[in-house]
Amino acid sequence: MEDTQDIINFYRESSNDALFKQADEVCRSTFGNKVYIRGLVEFSNICNKDCLYCGIRHSNKKVVRYRVPDETLFAIIKEGYNKGLRTFVLQSGEDPHYTTDKLMYILDTIKKITNNEAAITLSNGIRSKKDFKLLKKYGAARYLMRFETSDPFLHKNLRNGISLQKRLDALNNLRELDYEVGSGYMVGLPDETEKTRINNALLCKKLKLDMVGIGPFIPHPDTPLANSKKHTIELAMRATSLVRLLLPKANIPATTAAGSIDPLGREKILSCGANVLMPNITPTDVKKYYLLYPGKICLDESGIECISCLNGRVNSIGKELSLARGDSPYKLDREKLSV
Ligand code: SAH
Ligand code: SF4
Repeated sequence: MEDTQDIINFYRESSNDALFKQADEVCRSTFGNKVYIRGLVEFSNICNKDCLYCGIRHSNKKVVRYRVPDETLFAIIKEGYNKGLRTFVLQSGEDPHYTTDKLMYILDTIKKITNNEAAITLSNGIRSKKDFKLLKKYGAARYLMRFETSDPFLHKNLRNGISLQKRLDALNNLRELDYEVGSGYMVGLPDETEKTRINNALLCKKLKLDMVGIGPFIPHPDTPLANSKKHTIELAMRATSLVRLLLPKANIPATTAAGSIDPLGREKILSCGANVLMPNITPTDVKKYYLLYPGKICLDESGIECISCLNGRVNSIGKELSLARGDSPYKLDREKLSV
């Protein structure tokens, strides 16, 4: 099934079981039974933005703020590298302390301590095209920035006045600079409809994303959305399946948020189209302060403990972890076309 309209019709009309099965088959036809792992480091929870959904938004004065010192960051990456990790995701709030120069220094050091073998993904919000270019030059191969919702009105409301177009322009800049481009959205946001969810998936297709992160929205008690409705994992499963059918070769993680609303959430998402897991290797003393949403799992475990736990989890659904870089097959296709 390749035609976009056929896929949408199938999504609308089929049972959950049929949809999930089809997405799993497409995922396995691209990635076999492999689940790629990325070491996630949440290196700062300081943010000057005020997204209404987010627990670490600037206005939440209850948050204990932290920055992971550079030396600690390098030590964690080195440890992960020694354990075999070859992909790291460096995520943070929009923290002005991390200027582009500072990130260039961090990237350069990571390149050295990982023998230039690791793929580094940044996820730190919007920067100018000029800065994205410098970061790429210094070793950032991938960038993650969700569009959050494809509905421009909802986006603007939930992001405290920032327009959807701004993020779309930034994603376009990343594409022009030849990054592996990652984006995605939350499901279950207030005022979202089924039409929004279909448009979210179609936007991923239109952006030809290399990576798509889809997570359930989980209301945080210290945000303006505290009393919003909570949803079951099913919405995220349906969304993951649809995106997998539309983008058969995209890297799609089973997010921590999915594991946080359902004890088997990540296994369920990996059974209906996802092929990536992101064990959290943030130092355990600060992990608990990076609470975008409540109920986040694995706060007491070290990253390395997370990896062995994940191994058992993926085996339970007939898949196995892979330490390989798991470069985007779409990026590899683009490279073949350009030679
Ligand atoms: N500051 C960067 C990266 C950190 S936020 C950025 O905004 O891009 C990473 C992601 O967390 C966001 O893209 C959003 O989709 C997700 N997130 C934030 N609050 C959430 C919540 N309450 N429930 C679920 N996911 C949330
Ligand atoms: Fe900041 Fe990202 Fe949270 Fe928005 S979602 S408040 S940009 S950390």
